[in-house]
Amino acid sequence: MSTTATKLVPFEEALTRYQPVMGLEIHVELNTNTKMFCGCPTEFGAEPNTQICPVCLGLPGALPVVNAKAVESAIRMGLALNCQIAEWCRFARKNYFYPDMPKNFQTSQYDEPIAFDGFIDVDVDGETYRIQIERAHMEEDTGKSLHVGGSTGRIHGADHSLLDYNRAGIPLIEIVTRTIEVPGDKAPAVARAFVNQIRDLMVALGVSDARMDQGSMRADVNLSLKPLGSDQLGTRTETKNVNSFRSVERAVRYEIGRHAAILDAGGSILQETRHFHESDGTTSAGRPKSDADDYRYFPEPDLAPVAPDPAWVEELRGTLPEPPAERRKRLQAEWGFSDLDMRDTVGAGALDLVVETIAAGATPQSAKKWWLGELARTANERGTDLQALAITPAQVAQIQGLIDAKRINDKLARQVFEGVLAGEGDPEAVVVARGLEVVSDDGALGDAVDRAIANDPDAAQKIRDGKQAAAGALIGFVMKEMRGQADAGRVRELIIEKLS
Ligand SMILES: [Zn+2]
Repeated sequence: MSTTATKLVPFEEALTRYQPVMGLEIHVELNTNTKMFCGCPTEFGAEPNTQICPVCLGLPGALPVVNAKAVESAIRMGLALNCQIAEWCRFARKNYFYPDMPKNFQTSQYDEPIAFDGFIDVDVDGETYRIQIERAHMEEDTGKSLHVGGSTGRIHGADHSLLDYNRAGIPLIEIVTRTIEVPGDKAPAVARAFVNQIRDLMVALGVSDARMDQGSMRADVNLSLKPLGSDQLGTRTETKNVNSFRSVERAVRYEIGRHAAILDAGGSILQETRHFHESDGTTSAGRPKSDADDYRYFPEPDLAPVAPDPAWVEELRGTLPEPPAERRKRLQAEWGFSDLDMRDTVGAGALDLVVETIAAGATPQSAKKWWLGELARTANERGTDLQALAITPAQVAQIQGLIDAKRINDKLARQVFEGVLAGEGDPEAVVVARGLEVVSDDGALGDAVDRAIANDPDAAQKIRDGKQAAAGALIGFVMKEMRGQADAGRVRELIIEKLS
């Protein structure tokens, strides 16, 4: 029996025999100033082990206290996911050993989550799919192991490991869906759209920066296949910590092909966690995982139950952002986008980026043009998401501003994007440092126009005879002479002036 098939069944073929069933778990780090159960700061990127205290290190006698702001964020998140909010719930200890978890248990919630029974709707290719949310519960993050000496950063091949507990105790919300069954060919895109929408929601709520590239939002993808027409659920695998929207989609596709190959060969799927590999879009075996894993959960005796006042919950409901579907409809009308424009923008995960670029001064069409054109192409080439690119919406608006001011043209703008993405500074600085500004000085342009006329007397004669279309050849000559850095409109005017 093979469980390590490397030859995949092509995606479309797999769907002729199997129905994929998914379940998604998303961890979101809350952006509170302090940790879940202590007053330690939560800043990302601090020196290792500088944001720790006896509570988050689990030292004997240390007593945790619940962070009220984290509870508030959890409730608002639950409400935004259309969940019920528990009137009374407790934290629980999830007992297991892991070197990056100093207490030897994780403070989480078990059978009493703060939020449960919700849903959100996601749009894919013009269809709406309702994803049922089983629960959203509060817990704390673990520390981080750094494996040193190997080539992959994983423990295999490393010669030693270091531990950073700065992340231990950072508030997390885990969102768990019920099983998701959509038409198989849509499954990868639905998974991606769901994760994308959760991110947009978190950002709109202001409860997390939800940066997948920095690990402040991570997705686990559960997937199983069942034969078409069967009610019997197959054995699932859980691909852990997938860290981009694109990777979520690829992980679903890959696991469908892998499961199908094993099932076709009469094998059985091993219930296990899987690692996703960004480099080639494959997964590899993690650790076996059984449904019977016994974490010896029990209610946390050091923390008081959480019993939010219903009036407070209603008050928080009033602070929710506009629901995503209504917001999309409103933005589409404001921007004058067609259904297709809007679908492309949402599908590319660019909605909020476009919103921010417009807020920074660009027109809706130009904001869309750059994010869905040049920048989407770059993200795709680098195998990453738009959000992870080293360029801000304000910088995109600045580049468009330079074009509008005729200081650069579209072609030169591409070089400005390249410079900003390479960390050469703001658009203005890149234009200056790379000498990209278009020449609109009539003296320099006039000389180049004279050379163009001398170079192509036939075209010049045609223009004198009134055939202005012939100017194209002369403009081309000037642009080439000026290495693209000429204002083409002004060049045309000068040619016509000189030849009339
Ligand atoms: Zn602490």
